[in-house]
Amino acid sequence: MADFFDKVIDGVNKGVATVSTGSKTILEKTKINTVIKTLTDEKKQLLEILGNKVYTLAVQEKKDIPLSEVEPICEQITQRLSQIAEQQAKIEALDEEMNRITGSSGVSNIVCSCGNINKSGAKFCAACGNKLS
Ligand SMILES: [Zn+2]
Repeated sequence: MADFFDKVIDGVNKGVATVSTGSKTILEKTKINTVIKTLTDEKKQLLEILGNKVYTLAVQEKKDIPLSEVEPICEQITQRLSQIAEQQAKIEALDEEMNRITGSSGVSNIVCSCGNINKSGAKFCAACGNKLS
């Protein structure tokens, strides 16, 4: 009898683990999206600064634009772009992780009572050999 309850508790724990991983992932994604937004805003501001500088030098002061004037700003923009790409890669990884857990990648995976995720259409669990319904 103890065995039966152990299994039930085990199953409940696994369900809770999946749910908390899911909400943790959503929270994580929200955080990353905020970072991306900040980086995008900064990039926009830097581009504006760069544009103003070039315009002022070229049009108003009728000067050649020295590379030393624009290079540091360009570097900052490039830095933001790679940081944005980095954050987007993190989101993609989280999406993949979520798909793996929920099986929402188009195929409906079958989760065995042992916790193993089996491909859709599988008759038996690949990990423990239990019959899958
Ligand atoms: Zn199994």
